[in-house]
Amino acid sequence: MASSHSWEVPDRAWDREIGPVDVPPDWDDVEGGSDDEADLSILTEEECQEEFSKMLTEHYFAGKLSARSTCVIAYWAQRSGLRGPAVELAMPPTSASGHFQRHLDKALGLKAHDEKLCKIVMPCYSKHSACRDSREICVLPPHEVLYEEVQQQPSMRDMLQQKIDTKEWANVYANHRVVLDNPGEEVYPIALFVDGVPFTQRDSLLAFYSYNLLTGIKHLNAVLRKSQICRCGCRGWCTVSAVFRFLAWSFSCLASGTFPANDAAGNAFTAKDGDRFARSGQTLGFRGAVVQVKGDCAEFSHSFGFASWKSNQFP
Ligand SMILES: [Zn+2]
Repeated sequence: MASSHSWEVPDRAWDREIGPVDVPPDWDDVEGGSDDEADLSILTEEECQEEFSKMLTEHYFAGKLSARSTCVIAYWAQRSGLRGPAVELAMPPTSASGHFQRHLDKALGLKAHDEKLCKIVMPCYSKHSACRDSREICVLPPHEVLYEEVQQQPSMRDMLQQKIDTKEWANVYANHRVVLDNPGEEVYPIALFVDGVPFTQRDSLLAFYSYNLLTGIKHLNAVLRKSQICRCGCRGWCTVSAVFRFLAWSFSCLASGTFPANDAAGNAFTAKDGDRFARSGQTLGFRGAVVQVKGDCAEFSHSFGFASWKSNQFP
C-alpha cells in the first residue's frame, strides 16, 4: 500500500502545498498551524483515510511507533468507524506479542520479495551493547536485477550496438578489460552509485545502487543504517567493506557473464536456494563492465575510504 506512491513526486495537491512528500509535515513545529497554508477541508473522506494510513506507516518506519502501537491504533480507529488502507494494519491489543510484527510485515508487503533478496552477515555497531556486533541484512545482487532488466527489454541489444557505433561512451568503456576480452559480445556499461539518504532527524541511510548506463534505471542493491555502521575505530569500514565484497562478487558475475555457483560468502548454492541453485553456472546472455563509481565528496572520503580534501596527503 505505501509502496504504491512515488517517493519523489507528490501526487496529491496538499502534499505540494504543505511540503515535499519525503519530509512528513511535523505539525508541532509549524508556527501558527498549517491550516492557513493548505485548505484541508477540500479533502475527501478517502483522501483522509489514505493520509491517516500514510502517517501511521511513516511513524512506524521512523521508529516513533512500535509494531504493537501501530496495529493497536489502527484497530481502535477501525472500531471507531475508520475505513481505508489502515484497516489492514489493525490487530486487537489482546493479540500475542509476537504477532504484531509478523502481521505488519505481511500487511506492508515487506516479505513479498523474499525470494529475490539475498542475506549477508556483516559487522555492525549495536546501540544496546554499545560495542561491535554482527547482523544480517537483505540485499539484491546487481547481476540478478540487471539480468531481469535485459530480459524485459529485448531491444536493448540493438540500442547497445547503436551507442557503440556512435561512440556514445568514453574510452573507459571501449578500453575496459571485459569489453576488450570479449569482442562482439553484448557488454553493458554498469555504474555503481552510493548516496546518503536522511530518513529521520537523528539517522540516515547509506544506499548502494547499480544501473545500466544504457537505460539509467537505478536498482537499489543494499541499504545500511548509518547508526548501525561499525565504530570499532575503523571509521565504518568493517561494515561498508562487507557490502563492497558482496558487490564485487556480483560484479564478477557480470564480468564473466554467468550465474554464480557460490554465494557472496563462498558457500555453494544448494537445492534450498531455488532458482539460484538451478541457474548455477548458466550464462546470463550478456556481460557487464563497471565503468563508473559515483557518489558525493562525503561518500568518497567516508564510504570509499579515500582521503578527504582536508588531508595533508591530498595530491
Ligand atoms: Zn569496525
